Amino acid sequence: MTTTLVNHSKNAADIVAHAVTTTRAAAPAWAAAKRRPYLLSWKRLIHSRSDELIDLVCAETGKSHVDATVEVTLALEHLDWAARNASRVMSEQRVHRRLLAFNQSAVVRRQPFGVVGVIGPWNYPVFTPMGSISYALAAGNAVVFKPSEYTPRTGQWLAQTFAEAVPQHQVFEFVIGDGQIGQLLCEAAIDKLAFTGSGPTGRKVMAACAERLVPVVMELGGKDAAIIADDADLVAAARSVLWGATFNSGQSCAGIEIAIVVSGVYDEFLEHLSQQAKGLVAGVDYGEMTTSAQREIVERHVASAVDAGARVVVGSTTPIDGRVCEPVILTDVPSDHPAMTDETFGPTVVVVRASNIDDAVAIANRSRYGLGAAVFSRRHGDSIARRLEVGMVSVNDVLAFGSSPELPFGGVKGSGFGRIHGDDGLREFTTAQAITRRQFRSPVRISEPKPRQFDQLALKIVGTIIGRF
Ligand code: NDP
Repeated sequence: MTTTLVNHSKNAADIVAHAVTTTRAAAPAWAAAKRRPYLLSWKRLIHSRSDELIDLVCAETGKSHVDATVEVTLALEHLDWAARNASRVMSEQRVHRRLLAFNQSAVVRRQPFGVVGVIGPWNYPVFTPMGSISYALAAGNAVVFKPSEYTPRTGQWLAQTFAEAVPQHQVFEFVIGDGQIGQLLCEAAIDKLAFTGSGPTGRKVMAACAERLVPVVMELGGKDAAIIADDADLVAAARSVLWGATFNSGQSCAGIEIAIVVSGVYDEFLEHLSQQAKGLVAGVDYGEMTTSAQREIVERHVASAVDAGARVVVGSTTPIDGRVCEPVILTDVPSDHPAMTDETFGPTVVVVRASNIDDAVAIANRSRYGLGAAVFSRRHGDSIARRLEVGMVSVNDVLAFGSSPELPFGGVKGSGFGRIHGDDGLREFTTAQAITRRQFRSPVRISEPKPRQFDQLALKIVGTIIGRF
């Protein structure tokens, strides 16, 4: 919750440029090093001082101790996985040759980009940026990290513990400040930019990176829905939906914001959800809202939804007292209201009635976002999941994809593109280099001066062997 900005003694552009230059100088040795033991040392250091990190996260974000503990635990799990799997994912692959290049041997190499800029949000100041930092470092890149201005000390702590654990390689620098510093990082001599934050800022980041054709990963917001089918375990579904909506005070990109319930079980599900929500203690079961801007968005969504005809089933139209927001369950929200279409990012859930599963899927897919989703169904969970236009789905659970480092994390549509986590997340921070080696002279001679009538001959050969022209 601090908004401290570092009092830069030099001009901001110089500071960013210096961080990029420093890490770039160290990057080749890091790319050539066996990185796994270094990253595992860093992991052990973070683990041994995790109480300190958890307290820092709680102080900067206002989240509960248990939510901060989950965040740090997940970050450690991902760092461990990235460290142990990078060499496998980056190992050179021999490629099977087809007709036109059958005289060539071929391999694909994976190489780090060089310097990756990472810009992170405040809601998960450890887990979210570490989803890029761990994987980028494991893939052999250097990193310059700009944390959110609301969580600068957490960002600093991560970079300082890396420096302590891996003094041999100065490949992780941080720069602290507001959006202007982020903009400068996008304009600096980086080779890739991993951004996690809101869509509007993401557009600015892409525009700035476009100037130098710097590739970007965009991890943006979401408006995740849970679909509850008529064969769902309704008590378990209500428990999961409530946790998915209120964990981290609802300030989760992939938190559940909408429950779409088929008509036959709507009343029963709403009753379970309401009863369970009444048992939650805001400020104890989950923490405070982090920023005043976020508090205002939640209040505005709830109050204006009620003005537009919504019913408050649990909570009130003024759910925020100080920094704590009580859980709110809304029904009858108009489909075009911001509480249905935009990120609310609070411990609120809108319950929507669907006539059947087709209708539920159509309602979910109407969103301009496409980050994650959940499906609750005893028999049809997988088939419903496959119909959803999102990057990740949990069946009979919520957010389970985030705790599996093997799985790619990211969205479609307005939730961004590119992937962190898993093999895809490691590859995201590499470029592919293709190398062919001629083994003998080919009669097809694709990459040589051609004899006359080559065109007819080539089509004949290809037609005969590949066939069906
Ligand atoms: P913002 O988009 O406001 O900010 C994200 C980061 O971008 C911050 O570090 C911010 O700095 C920086 N920034 C601001 N302006 C610029 C600029 N012009 N150029 C470069 N960087 C800039 O997001 P929030 O911090 O409010 O985070 C919440 C958002 O993040 C939500 O939409 C949430 O859904 C999303 N998110 C997505 C995740 C995913 O994996 N898909 C995971 C977690 C969150 P400063 O804070 O100093 O302004």
